[in-house]
Amino acid sequence: MLRPVSFPPFQPPVIDVQARYRLPSEVRYCRRCVISNQRPRITFDAEGVCSACRYAELKHGRVERAINWTQRERELAALCDRTRRNDGRFDVVVPCSGGKDSGYVAHVLKTKYGMHPLTVTWAPHWYTDIGRENLHSMIHSGFSNICFTPDGAVHRLMTRLAFVNLGDPFQPFIYGQKNFPLNVAAMYDIPLIMYGENGEVEYGGDMKNAFSPTHDTGGDMVKHYFSGISPEEWVQHGVHEHDLAVYRGPSQERIQAVGIQCHFMGYYHQWIPQELYYYCSENTGFQANPEGRSEGTYSKYASLDDRTDGFHYWLAFIKFGIGRCTSDAAHEIRDGHIERDEGVALVRQFDGEFPARHFEEFLDYTGLTEAQFHESVNVWRSPHLWAREGGAGLAGWKLKHAVWHDDAKVG
Ligand SMILES: [Zn+2]
Repeated sequence: MLRPVSFPPFQPPVIDVQARYRLPSEVRYCRRCVISNQRPRITFDAEGVCSACRYAELKHGRVERAINWTQRERELAALCDRTRRNDGRFDVVVPCSGGKDSGYVAHVLKTKYGMHPLTVTWAPHWYTDIGRENLHSMIHSGFSNICFTPDGAVHRLMTRLAFVNLGDPFQPFIYGQKNFPLNVAAMYDIPLIMYGENGEVEYGGDMKNAFSPTHDTGGDMVKHYFSGISPEEWVQHGVHEHDLAVYRGPSQERIQAVGIQCHFMGYYHQWIPQELYYYCSENTGFQANPEGRSEGTYSKYASLDDRTDGFHYWLAFIKFGIGRCTSDAAHEIRDGHIERDEGVALVRQFDGEFPARHFEEFLDYTGLTEAQFHESVNVWRSPHLWAREGGAGLAGWKLKHAVWHDDAKVG
């Protein structure tokens, strides 16, 4: 049990979920993969194919004018040549959880491109044993690391408020995950930050930066990563202004003075999650989840380090009808590892599974009762996606549309 901290009274908001996320009234599924049009910012073309599947065609060379990975690799080599330091200073920041993605980025930059990465970790809400061990293994395979753990009482308050008011307990983590590497880059005068994949293009979203190696360090961060809500806005929910300092990034002047750029490795190297797993098992001591598959999906090697992360994915399932398995299966269909009908069967089996393994700890962390938890969750069930069909508690909620329903609208 964690020591209780004092939280403001429980006050769930009233939200029109469909309007807030601009979700289309008619639920349609991509003709190629299993994603639906309810994923924020995703687009479907006239043939009923989603933007992420179209990007995958270019990525895997299935169409003319596909991405030339040899050329992209040369671009990375040139970037590294411009940035490399040989005087003992670090030359690239790699935001890093200890997972397979960041382990791959750091290891490749160091061993193949002769860079001097500083790995930077914004600690999970509540480490899992395997998460801690994987970070430890990665460090001991040959990397310097700075791990920052924010004030636990403040972070618990922020997490509770974000869960209740935004329907996403991960919001405070995401501030740190994005802003802390910028702060470290500013502090150590390091002009390059290398992220892994660009989630917006790999999983479906805003394609504006699909053919750009960098992401914006200004306004788009708030839109893409912070759900339109900057750290400052939490003052109105009762977080003390001073406590928000660690969640903020450096000033634009400082970013420009150091010349900090954020790049995506997924722009330079073909990004295939399964292969990163093999690479890191081999090179950074990465281990898959010993407890087996993650709840809500069939994979056992992604997003393992935080006991609360199952609730982040599960809330997305509540809001959009898109769970962790849908995202995983869609990516694997695009990578050509499974067929669409296999993906549909996996979604039917695993999507939306309740993250029971760490439920007690989640309640303890956020100071919510079980009844308050469910009352909060139900705020995020849009009537165009969910129906109450009798039955007590969770079992009484049914998705009106699912990719495995016979009448699912495809294309
Ligand atoms: Zn698709």
